[in-house]
Amino acid sequence: MKAAVFYGIEDIRIEEREIPHIGPDEYLIKVKAAAICGSELRTYLHGHAKIKEPQILGHEFAGEVVEIGENIRGLTVGERVSVHPGIPCGHCYYCDQGYQNLCEERKNISIHYPGAFAEYVKIPGKTLELGTCVKIPENIPYEVAALGDPVVSALNGEEMIDARLGDSILILGCGPIGMLHAMVARLKGASTIILANRSRNRLELAKERNLADYYFCLESDGDLKEFVKKVTGGRGPNKVVVANTSKASAKQGVEVVAKGGLVQLFAGFPKDNPFLDLDGNLIHYNQLTVSSSYGSTPRQFQLAEKLLFEGKIDGASLITHRLPLDEINKGFELMKSGEALKVILTYE
Ligand SMILES: [Zn+2]
Ligand SMILES: [Zn+2]
Repeated sequence: MKAAVFYGIEDIRIEEREIPHIGPDEYLIKVKAAAICGSELRTYLHGHAKIKEPQILGHEFAGEVVEIGENIRGLTVGERVSVHPGIPCGHCYYCDQGYQNLCEERKNISIHYPGAFAEYVKIPGKTLELGTCVKIPENIPYEVAALGDPVVSALNGEEMIDARLGDSILILGCGPIGMLHAMVARLKGASTIILANRSRNRLELAKERNLADYYFCLESDGDLKEFVKKVTGGRGPNKVVVANTSKASAKQGVEVVAKGGLVQLFAGFPKDNPFLDLDGNLIHYNQLTVSSSYGSTPRQFQLAEKLLFEGKIDGASLITHRLPLDEINKGFELMKSGEALKVILTYE
């Protein structure tokens, strides 16, 4: 089979590999569509502490079941499925509490196991018990089902801030994840959604898709605090999502949120210096909550796929490029330049 193998920073090679052999507790998927994740762009540019090269990346994918191990139940050859890359143990303290995203033994397809930037990907049967293998209705394109992972991350974020009717939400960062936050926040009833971003081009893309009520360019639209006050009755948003990895953004979130408000740190920060410079007195005297969101759970993945299937989240609207697997490097370059939102790799 053809596989795109990650050998190190900015080094992905197309190779011929053997189709994976499956054991009794595994099944094999012929990949039909895979998306490049923002986190993989980070891996491509800076490496990843847990990934041992050479490794096949690719964790946002969908495809057809082509082979099933003898112990596998509840799955048939020929079925169309999307699988979440996170594989929690299912029985530790965190899993028992419903926080499978925080599982002590969590494994990931594309980190611990080879991923889907190859014609075939082998999947642990455990995904069926966990509920992280979702069957795709006939009328839904594979490329839409492949977006369950980015959607579910935003969904966890919006559940963690309990987005609801009447909220005014500022989202700092207008990449695909910031845009998905806006879509989920809208679905949950938020009244005022403000998307802010450094460069204007991403805001224009969001505007074309009508994702927010207001768009603010941090480079050229003046003072963010003044702006958000103006559009939220003089108080500022009651919730802020920091959907980018900039420490300045986290600081800004604390400065512009309304009293009693909440700032969610949705993304990780540079690992060589993750320490934040937040105004402790603003947090204290304004009674702010600084919280976070990381990963997602099987329940949320099923819900994310359902929202995609029902068209409540318009996943297809985020797809800006489609490329054959052979041209994966071009896909990463398009992500790097900021030109692409979601790049879909196609397979014969
Ligand atoms: Zn992802
Ligand atoms: Zn666990």
